[in-house]
Amino acid sequence: MNLINMKRNNIGRRDFIRYSAAAGAGALLTRDAVANTSTTPADSNQKMPERTLGKTGISLPILSMGVDRPDSSNVLRAAYNAGIRHFDTANNYQRGRNEEALGAMFDGRPLDSRFISTKIMFPYPLRDNFEEDFDSKLEVSLNRLRIEQVDLLYLHDIRTVENVKDPRVAASLLKAREEGKTKFIGLSFHTGDPDVFRAAIDMGIFEVLLITYNFKMDRLEEYEALIEEAAQKGIGLIGMKTMAGGTVDAEGKKQINGDACLKWVWKNKHITTVIPGLTNFEHLDKCVAAALNPKINEEEERYLASLENEEMLFCRQCNQCKPQCPAGLPIPDIMRAYMYAFGYKQARISKDTLANVGLTADACAGCNEVCTVKCPSGFNVGKKIAALTPLLNTPDVFLT
Ligand code: SF4
Ligand code: SF4
Repeated sequence: MNLINMKRNNIGRRDFIRYSAAAGAGALLTRDAVANTSTTPADSNQKMPERTLGKTGISLPILSMGVDRPDSSNVLRAAYNAGIRHFDTANNYQRGRNEEALGAMFDGRPLDSRFISTKIMFPYPLRDNFEEDFDSKLEVSLNRLRIEQVDLLYLHDIRTVENVKDPRVAASLLKAREEGKTKFIGLSFHTGDPDVFRAAIDMGIFEVLLITYNFKMDRLEEYEALIEEAAQKGIGLIGMKTMAGGTVDAEGKKQINGDACLKWVWKNKHITTVIPGLTNFEHLDKCVAAALNPKINEEEERYLASLENEEMLFCRQCNQCKPQCPAGLPIPDIMRAYMYAFGYKQARISKDTLANVGLTADACAGCNEVCTVKCPSGFNVGKKIAALTPLLNTPDVFLT
């Protein structure tokens, strides 16, 4: 690869040098690319701190990568070369293209050079064919990833205590592990609901939990006590939704200080690593820099405190809106989809989320454009739903 090709692939020389120099042995840059590296940055010997993922015994850098865009192969490569080792994806992200991108990148590479997790998701209550569907989705994921065994398999987006305790959920994950299709098993849950967290700990079979964790969450004290308890029991904890929606305004126009958000999460020593969706080189560069210097400072603490009462985009998933809606809409899920679209600029994931919860374009028609939902976070729910519904009819090809 020469510099012309680097530009074509959107790799700036500064980033190229930074990541290639930080790579060390086993870097994925081509031989030509390495030959073109003539200087090294001052911090090239710095390594991201690592933490152990509970009783799995696996040591991971505190920064991992949420792989949620199919067009980010170069960013993936740069992330690896910057020292990131854990890549998190899902069977349904971008209809499987993210798994394919990871499969292509690591094809033929030593298995111990990376730690890959994927997730599979189902509607609840589970359908009669759940077990068959589970096996088939897992097979599809393994084929896309070009491996016979994933490092970590989650059942994705578990919402309720009943779903966590459903014996069919546990049986399917345990069977996958027994069959050698995954090394470790876990659950992911977005709601930040301490009751769901409690149930997941009590099940006693999950080695890892992928949990929402950020400074804007509801019932934080209770939640952090559960983090402590889970860690004491050897459950590995990985943080997601760490950027609290990604912007400091409700319209999604002003980016949040991501460094401060990540450093706030890293203050909790029980969170092994975090998985921000790293979609471009600038974002990767900033997150790596934060991970190299992860201690939060007073200014960053003050900044986060100043956002305490701002509306922003992070729905606390407190569910207070649900009984207020005469149409029974799954408002917390819809607000999460809003965050994906306007905060993270991930319109396809937003559309998929809306499709999963069955939102229709005329869902609010019965209210004649007057939404009576009162949200303690100040969300104008009706306005946000109206802004989202055009997505439902937008062809994927036009979405980010
Ligand atoms: S009331 Fe507001 S913060 Fe709570 S779940 Fe509903 S939209 Fe989210
Ligand atoms: S306008 Fe508000 S109350 Fe009416 S259906 Fe939509 S979300 Fe529910």
